[in-house]
Amino acid sequence: MSYLAKNYNRKKISFVRGKGSYLYSTNGKKYLDFVQGIAVNSLGHAHPKLVKVIKDQSKKLWHVSNAFQIPEGEKLAKKLCQKTFADYVMFQNSGAEATEAAIKVARRYFYSIGEPNKNRILCIKNSFHGRTIAAIFASGSKKMTEGFGPKVPGFDHINFKDTKPRFPNLRKKIKKNTAAIMVETIMGEGGIKPIPNKCLQYLRKICSQKKILLILDEVQCGIGRSGDFFAFEQSRIRGDIVPIAKGIGGGFPIGAVLMNKKVAAGMIPGTHGSTFGGNPLAMAVGNTVMDIVSSKKFLRNVKKLSKYFLLNLNLLKEKYPHMIKEIRGRGFLIGLQLYQDQSKFIKKLMDKKLLTIRAAENTVRILPPLNVKKKEIDQALKIIDKVCADFK
Ligand SMILES: *Cc1c(COP(=O)(O)O)cnc(C)c1O
Repeated sequence: MSYLAKNYNRKKISFVRGKGSYLYSTNGKKYLDFVQGIAVNSLGHAHPKLVKVIKDQSKKLWHVSNAFQIPEGEKLAKKLCQKTFADYVMFQNSGAEATEAAIKVARRYFYSIGEPNKNRILCIKNSFHGRTIAAIFASGSKKMTEGFGPKVPGFDHINFKDTKPRFPNLRKKIKKNTAAIMVETIMGEGGIKPIPNKCLQYLRKICSQKKILLILDEVQCGIGRSGDFFAFEQSRIRGDIVPIAKGIGGGFPIGAVLMNKKVAAGMIPGTHGSTFGGNPLAMAVGNTVMDIVSSKKFLRNVKKLSKYFLLNLNLLKEKYPHMIKEIRGRGFLIGLQLYQDQSKFIKKLMDKKLLTIRAAENTVRILPPLNVKKKEIDQALKIIDKVCADFK
């Protein structure tokens, strides 16, 4: 029997070790891992540079309080700011913490300019921002909030219809007390749905016009996953506040909120804190991930290989038009939407040693490491082709 709480429906498999794109199970089988901890292990398993840095740093210093200077954190914050829109960074440990801290930054900004009543956050219905009490009510999903009332106030919702060129009724939803719009640039859990560029540009325009803030949740789609360092770069806009997590730690828990100078002015000493956030061990790993992932050459390769992958997945869609409804996503954040429930399909892929994971709306989520090799993509394509052919 298991003493773990039953909040997960776990597959009956466990692993002893990983190397690059592969995982080795306790019963001696080798799997191509296209889950990678749900977009977390951006450089695959046991990347030699990450192994080295964690070993070296662990001999020197793991943790000190944020009451002291942490040079490793200064370094990572500087890199994140120099590579992006951001002027300041606040480190956390996870995605949910980062999205919650993003909400705090937005509210605190309006408080600090004498508009404390401007505090409501407009989100997309059934989006995903994490599992903390505020984050579930931000997403407004019935499944996630059921039984966890009372409802956390302060969130309003718009619907996402990716068939529409832009959000209808958005202007009506922005009230006098709206502080920010918060969206995932690419909806991950929701089925790998990128918000179209035109739509993002429209959001940016409205936020600027109405003098409210744009929070772009890049926890899943950020840090090179989309082929650009941030997914929003494709639409040539920028957010005011951007929570990140997953990929930046390469498997080590790190979260962060990136923000511009204007909104950062509200975050004076004492307004936010985190015991573990930004500790030397985490920051040493984060710096190494950042150095690799943010390089132009690395991102160019993500773009090139993901284009190849998407092209071939679309060929499979043409080959099995009654099976595959749509191939969605950008870079290595890929959704393969079926016409039917995806559980059996995912099981069959796993039987053939390819690991994938579900997302909403019959979607099979495919998340290779960002440094995946072409021959590993070919191997995955072959398995997907076979499962499609065998599927009844
Ligand atoms: C995973 C995810 C989160 C939550 O991250 P945790 O580390 O699980 O708390 C928030 N936002 C998005 C878009 C995510 O994909």
